[in-house]
Amino acid sequence: MSAASQSATTAPSWLRVPDDANALVEKVWPVSASRRDDGVLLVGGFPATTLADRFGTPLWVLDEDEVRAQARRTLDAFRAAAGLHGAQARVYYAGKAFLSTEVVRWVTDEGLAVDVCTGGELAVALAAGADPARLGFHGNNKSVAELEAAVAAGVGSIVIDSPVEIERLAAIVERRGVTQSVLLRVNSGVHAETHDFLATAHEDQKFGFTLTDAPAAVARIREVGGLSLVGLHCHIGSQIFGTTGFQESASRIVELHATLLDGGALPVLNLGGGFGIAYTSADDPTPIEELAIGIADAVARECEVRGIPMPNLAFEPGRAIVGRAGITLYEVGTTKPVSLDGGETRHYVSVDGGMSDNARPALYGADYSARIASRTSDADPVLVRVVGKHCESGDIVVDAEYLPGDVAPGDLLAVPATGAYCFSLANTYNYVPRPPVVALRGGEARVIVRGETIDDLLARDAGVDHTPGKRMDMPALSERSETT
Ligand SMILES: *Cc1c(COP(=O)(O)O)cnc(C)c1O
Repeated sequence: MSAASQSATTAPSWLRVPDDANALVEKVWPVSASRRDDGVLLVGGFPATTLADRFGTPLWVLDEDEVRAQARRTLDAFRAAAGLHGAQARVYYAGKAFLSTEVVRWVTDEGLAVDVCTGGELAVALAAGADPARLGFHGNNKSVAELEAAVAAGVGSIVIDSPVEIERLAAIVERRGVTQSVLLRVNSGVHAETHDFLATAHEDQKFGFTLTDAPAAVARIREVGGLSLVGLHCHIGSQIFGTTGFQESASRIVELHATLLDGGALPVLNLGGGFGIAYTSADDPTPIEELAIGIADAVARECEVRGIPMPNLAFEPGRAIVGRAGITLYEVGTTKPVSLDGGETRHYVSVDGGMSDNARPALYGADYSARIASRTSDADPVLVRVVGKHCESGDIVVDAEYLPGDVAPGDLLAVPATGAYCFSLANTYNYVPRPPVVALRGGEARVIVRGETIDDLLARDAGVDHTPGKRMDMPALSERSETT
């Protein structure tokens, strides 16, 4: 029996045994990814082996051209779709997907505005030199200090999430004698999860105002002289593939939007983000152009039915901008066949990172794919589970993937589509230092966020003797084992 057929029943139903376990499934890799003649993975013109030697593993690699191209493509798609109905579109990059000053510069350079949702994220966007007027500020529990900072900085719009926040903001703008543009976050009752969406009358979650509660909040905002309500905001979820959920939500929001026009103009309708990307061969996200047209058409239709003007549209993609641009490089440390019930074997491949650099599998059972990056192999594919080095059995990087059966310690492993929500959700569990982020462009590899050191990890511990020479020196932890 071949290794592949042995694992047939332990594999999830969506995972096919590949003809070639070295092949790069196009939709999950950056456009620049390919195999060099000797089999080494190339990204942005760089051999994965060179990157690992220069910067160590684990390593987050970000293809700058890919980020910029997706930013342009998304902006063009929404502008064109809104333009078909005589409206404009603004695209905010949802910073929480991956926020660093460099990434803010890339996306603003390409014409995007930026969305932040805490004082920390606001600080990064401002440190990058982003125009405050082109920042949006979200969040269900912005503190008075965060709101003060946003108003003081001149943030373009603040998305109000609760009655408490209306009063907080009212007090701030009154004290400062300024006018602040705001949107009201509405919970449309539509909640989308990956391939599916749910529509309920009252969705029970923490964000925004229900359709029932929104009119009173709008009336209150309009009473406050220093608050200028520019429109409604709605975000229905993340990693959404089709247009159905967006269309259902748009229809509900436009209905509310129409009833509010009696009390004043609402020039903007912000429909949030959530546009899905491919993480594995099984994912088939709708192209952004198609989504944009589907959503803009739905809004236009709903406006026409009600005889109201089409508002300008705003969107907040995060994952769709950066997801595919990122790859994580790991070194395989150990491999282990584990005998399962029924005589099956699962091959565990342990890498030098894990849930500290990619929390998504542990947090939401997210699926990823993987390839050996340092070589190709003719060995038969075997079903593997790629796991990290943390002390949790849920420390999974790739739950199920076929890799060449000779995958072994010392191999470099690349996990694609890690540009979104990996760096930003990273942690230092087990005192594993967070990897550096290296950006690739024009034949240059640049560290845009440096890797954490053991000194960084110990720096906040008040019990450590920080006098030079007082503490055991640690070897450079990220050096590849062949070179040490
Ligand atoms: C997370 C979030 C986004 C971005 O979601 P993606 O799935 O990354 O596109 C946009 N808007 C709001 C309000 C969010 O919370």
